[in-house]
Amino acid sequence: MTFTLRIFDPHIHMSSRTTDDYERMYRAGVRAVVEPAFWLGQPRTSAGSFVDYFDALLGWEPFRAAQFGIRHHCTVALNPKEANDPRCRPVLDVLPRYLAKDGVVAVGEIGYDSMTDDEDEVFRIQLGMAADAGLPVLVHTPHRDKPAGTRRSLDLVAAEGVPPEMVLVDHLNELTVAMVERSGCWMGFSVYPDTKMDERRMVSILLEYGTERVLVNSAADWGRSDPLKTRRVGEAMLAAGFTDSDVDTVLWRNPVAFYAQSGRLALDDPADRDLIPAGESTYSGDYSGDYSGDYSGDYAGNSVLRGERAR
Ligand SMILES: [Zn+2]
Repeated sequence: MTFTLRIFDPHIHMSSRTTDDYERMYRAGVRAVVEPAFWLGQPRTSAGSFVDYFDALLGWEPFRAAQFGIRHHCTVALNPKEANDPRCRPVLDVLPRYLAKDGVVAVGEIGYDSMTDDEDEVFRIQLGMAADAGLPVLVHTPHRDKPAGTRRSLDLVAAEGVPPEMVLVDHLNELTVAMVERSGCWMGFSVYPDTKMDERRMVSILLEYGTERVLVNSAADWGRSDPLKTRRVGEAMLAAGFTDSDVDTVLWRNPVAFYAQSGRLALDDPADRDLIPAGESTYSGDYSGDYSGDYSGDYAGNSVLRGERAR
């Protein structure tokens, strides 16, 4: 039997990654991603900064991903951290226009950062926008006091009448997985190189809770993170005795099922390439970027190529 490892990374911030990452991801089996809108690492000073960012998530970044054989989608929102900054609030007025766009597959990341009243209000408003747009919701859980933040997020989602199957609660760990499992919401886990969840802990959780409604992401961004962590989890699952089908459920079928509720997933191969069999793409830690694309496409006159081409 030929097992094809295919990966959908349901949470990765590709606009802060390089084309080398796209090449390595493709070779590792990544064929589709969702890029949630989040903060920049420093405060935005106006709603206009969000508008340019959302436009990039809907234009340039899907183009860039497609040059490397990967389908790119995004979620848009006012993130929890910047919900506290009055300069950012006006973005709520432009969000409905973006939620109507084809590449947007959920409202997110929304939720709590410091659990302030402002965060509460912005979270509630955006749950309403998701309902109006008929879109699923990606909920970020806070890094500080995570159990309390997760509990409060689940309570708000229930109070607002959002169906649990439309909600993915992300950045979970051993302390928060049980309450989300009971809620009926989807369970997201971000696997990082040296903090929080790692692949060994992820496998333990899968052994205890099973694969249903579980999604794994790299949450890679401009900080210390690794866009191949999804692949690492797949390999750790196989080593622990999970079947090929179990791996496919967690790394492909579950994220597809969740985001397909938007009616907007595009999963055809952008360059019409076949998936690589797992046997040929076993992770060695050394992907030498021999992707066969010519990268010569352009978006609004710009391409990913730089300098004069060698003949
Ligand atoms: Zn994120």
